[in-house]
Amino acid sequence: MERFEGIYAKSVVAAALLLMVAPPFLFGWSWENTVYRAMIFLVVASPCALVSSIMPAILSGISNAARKGVLFKGGVHLEQIGEVKVVAFDKTGTLTGGKPKLTDCIPSEGHSEQELLTLAASLEYLSEHPIAKAVVDYAKDAGIPFESASDMQAVPGMGVSGTVNGRNCRIGKKELLASLNMDDAMLQTAGKLEADGKTVIFVESGGTLTGMLAVQDILRPGVREAVLKLKSMNQKVVMLTGDAKLTAEAIGRAAGVDEVHAELMPDHKLALIRQLTEQHGKVAMVGDGVNDAPALAASAVGIAMGSGGTDVALETANVVLMTDDISKIPFAISLGRRARRVIRQNISFALAVIAILVVSNFWGCINLPSGVVGHEGSTLAVILSGLRLLR
Ligand code: ADP
Ligand code: MG
Repeated sequence: MERFEGIYAKSVVAAALLLMVAPPFLFGWSWENTVYRAMIFLVVASPCALVSSIMPAILSGISNAARKGVLFKGGVHLEQIGEVKVVAFDKTGTLTGGKPKLTDCIPSEGHSEQELLTLAASLEYLSEHPIAKAVVDYAKDAGIPFESASDMQAVPGMGVSGTVNGRNCRIGKKELLASLNMDDAMLQTAGKLEADGKTVIFVESGGTLTGMLAVQDILRPGVREAVLKLKSMNQKVVMLTGDAKLTAEAIGRAAGVDEVHAELMPDHKLALIRQLTEQHGKVAMVGDGVNDAPALAASAVGIAMGSGGTDVALETANVVLMTDDISKIPFAISLGRRARRVIRQNISFALAVIAILVVSNFWGCINLPSGVVGHEGSTLAVILSGLRLLR
């Protein structure tokens, strides 16, 4: 826009100079009339209305969204969200409330429930993941003694590893413990729990499987309605999750999304965002975790959950939902679409007024005061039109 303004300003000055020199020779105008017409031309052709077509509209849109708890980090993101064709949601902490409850505790043979919970809580104590909180809260409520593991390391999209009682231990999804042999009965039980929409995590200590835990998270209130609304706005709605396929499908069905992509690592989420962009157009990614950060950065509009989201997600995203309210996404998209519409209307109006005033001036139909009124009036009109987005 700035480049366009520079070119436009230079063209106006050049045209005014030409207007001061050419007409006396070409049309036999008097010098007095020529200088007067050139002055009017400079007034009516200056691009004030054109420049004011965008900023007031964008600022009004941003302020309207902020009042409703949607924080845009810049005007360009409001314009971009209006062009989005696909909305991709993370599952844990985004579509679901991020406050899962531990529902099942199944030790493997030769291990006790207490041993399994002590180990799990020790490993999860320092983790930021919602599953970790569920495990630690359960252990605390049940009065299970545990101490934080040393050398704790989070593996985004997988789980956590650390040292407990001098042994290397891990907690997380099946793939993290791929080196372990799990018996069929254990895997069958895990499958049943996953089909109920529960997330199953496995615990390993010193190379042996201590057992598995299941946590259940529920959809945030209003998710189904928000997904339906997005579909009615011709958006494709997809879910991208690191969780197991069965769990993801159960939650995806409940939310009503079009497509479910499960068992994704952070770089798989990123690749899918690129693929969706190629196939359908601009994608908005909504997420909360460290594992969502690459996808948030690669999408046209990254949207982070403001209160439950991790710092990395908040930092990377372009838009923040202050109250984690998914129903604000359809609102933000329609606000973006309205902003684009208003800006297009304003620019067309400003250009039309400039063209009419320039031609009228050339034919001698306006004088300087009416040129000023037309010019200032159109500037005021586009500013007022932009302010419509406050409502
Ligand atoms: P989502 O993509 O749905 O937000 P994540 O990528 O955060 O899910 O996690 C994917 C899977 O990795 C979880 O379903 C869980 O099985 C496992 N996982 C990740 N972090 C942890 C953790 N701290 N403790 C246990 N399991 C974890
Ligand atoms: Mg998440």
